[in-house]
Amino acid sequence: VIEMHNRYNEIEYAKAIESNGFLSRFKKHELRVLAKYYKSQGVKNAELKELICEFCERHIPNYNEVRYASFINGIINFASKKTNKLIVIKDIPIAGTEGRAIDKLDIGYEYKRFLFAWLVKVKLNRAIYKISHDAELKSIYFSHEVARQKEIFKMSNLDRKEYNMNEIIKHLYDKGIIDIANNGKIKLLFMENMTEGKKISLRIPTTDIDYAGYYWDQFKKKYKVGYCQECGIIIKKKNISKKYCQKCGKKIKNLQTNQSKKAKRQKEKNMG
Ligand SMILES: [Zn+2]
Repeated sequence: VIEMHNRYNEIEYAKAIESNGFLSRFKKHELRVLAKYYKSQGVKNAELKELICEFCERHIPNYNEVRYASFINGIINFASKKTNKLIVIKDIPIAGTEGRAIDKLDIGYEYKRFLFAWLVKVKLNRAIYKISHDAELKSIYFSHEVARQKEIFKMSNLDRKEYNMNEIIKHLYDKGIIDIANNGKIKLLFMENMTEGKKISLRIPTTDIDYAGYYWDQFKKKYKVGYCQECGIIIKKKNISKKYCQKCGKKIKNLQTNQSKKAKRQKEKNMG
C-alpha cells in the first residue's frame, strides 16, 4: 500500500514516485515533480531526459519513444523553468501575535477557527510563492472562487451540518473583518495590521494542513488534541482512549472485523 504523499514536500513525493512508480492518475504532474527533483540534484537536461524516458519506459504500458517525444520535451521544459522550483515546506509557523490578533476579534469561536484556517492558507500560499519567485508576497487579497473558500472551510474542520460557509463569510463581512474588493476578490482586513512576532506559538506540519482547525483548539487550549497512532495526523481527543483518526479508526475496525469473521469461519470449519 502506498502512503498518502504530502503535496507540500515534493522531495518526499518525488522519492516515492521514483521508487514506486506513479502514485496517482496524474502522470504528467508526477513526472514534473520527479523532473524538478532531478533538476534540484544538479542533473543536466540531456541526462534528465534520459532519466525521465527510462522511468516512462518502466511505468507507462505501451510506451513508445516517438509517440511520447513531445510529451517528454514538455516535462523537461517545465522543469527547466526557473520559477518551477521543487516545493518543500515542512510546516507553517504561527506567531503568538497572529493567534492573539484573531482571538481579540469580537466574534464567536467558530468564526475565529475559520479565520485561523484562512491565515494558515494564506501563509502557505506565501511560502509557496517565496520558493517559486524568491520574493515575498504581501497581498492580503484572496480568491473570489468558491472552491478556494471551500478549502478554507474544510481546513477549519467545522461541522458541515452545523455550520454554513456562506453564513460565516457574510458574518465576517458584516463585522468588517473582511471586505470585497472591486475585482471581486476578498480583502482579508484582519490580516492588515497583523505582525509576525518572533515568538512562534505553534507549527502546523504541512501533512496536517487540512486539520488547521484543531491547531486553533490547541492554541486556545479549548480541547485536548493528540496525534493518530497510525498515520500521525492531529486528532481531537474526546477521551484519553482515542488513539486513531477517523480514517485509520475505520480501517483498523474493518481489519479487526474481517479477522474475527475469518477466525469464526475457521472455527466453524474445524468444528464441522
Ligand atoms: Zn490516522
